[in-house]
Amino acid sequence: MVKDCYASVKKRLAQAGIEDFSFETDVIFEEVFSRSFKLDMMIGRLDRKATDSEVSRLNSMVERRCKGEPLQYVIGKWEFYGMELSVGDGVLIPRQDTETLVDTAFELVRQKSSVRATDLCSGSGCIALALAELLNKNGTQYKITAAELYDKAFYYLEKNADRYSSLNVRVQKLDALNPDSLAVNGLDLDIITCNPPYLDDEDMSKLQREVSFEPKTALYGSSDGLDYYRIISRVWKNALTDGGYIVFEIGYKQSKAVESILQGEGYHSVRTVSDSTEKPRVVLGQKTCGSRSEYDFSD
Ligand code: GLN
Repeated sequence: MVKDCYASVKKRLAQAGIEDFSFETDVIFEEVFSRSFKLDMMIGRLDRKATDSEVSRLNSMVERRCKGEPLQYVIGKWEFYGMELSVGDGVLIPRQDTETLVDTAFELVRQKSSVRATDLCSGSGCIALALAELLNKNGTQYKITAAELYDKAFYYLEKNADRYSSLNVRVQKLDALNPDSLAVNGLDLDIITCNPPYLDDEDMSKLQREVSFEPKTALYGSSDGLDYYRIISRVWKNALTDGGYIVFEIGYKQSKAVESILQGEGYHSVRTVSDSTEKPRVVLGQKTCGSRSEYDFSD
């Protein structure tokens, strides 16, 4: 019976040491049965034997989860800012922390009548899509590009942009650290958003088991975690219009270092924004009128 499967999945997850085994059982059942499976169980609508296909789906999900794979990969999707995004092997799972970056970016540009934006290291596309959704609701015209380099992540980016095709987010295969000059110069962007890989050697040596299933390319910044901030703030300055903003997600201990990188590159109004738990989470800077990047693409 379905309710016996429910009890057994809960038990298997608990025995595997999964802390939120109850919540995770519910998420798996919502996936295999329906969002209303709890109500359905309560009113007797699931007083039946689970079908062979339901049992085999449940088994495969539970086995994968018990081996440490993140729940989000196991069910193939996760919610970010009220949107349901596809995720799986090779793409960073959207974190709730990243909503701070989206909110900050939106606040910076919401008064404009039209906005040009690029999201670098886009992964699932969560930032670009959520920003597009907010601007759309706000009645702001926008042109948003989501750029990602790695094939496996790009697959999910395209899939998510297709699913929310009415938001018209354009996707681009692009190495944010090494774009060609055509990809950067003259874009006149009002805002660049980026949640780059920013973990350092120490962070990488103590990754949570689930996080170790996520792509290193989306996690590891460099020995001090800061390479992407150094390079992107320099290389992409020419893509910003005068007065345009660059907005990065950061690790909670990187605020001072990233602020000084942006100041060193000549950005103004550099500041840090904290997330809902009061941890520094976002650093931003503004390109002011007449400032040109010294980065030279000719070499
Ligand atoms: N925030 C992620 C974590 O907690 C790291 C993602 C990143 O490096 N951008 O693991």
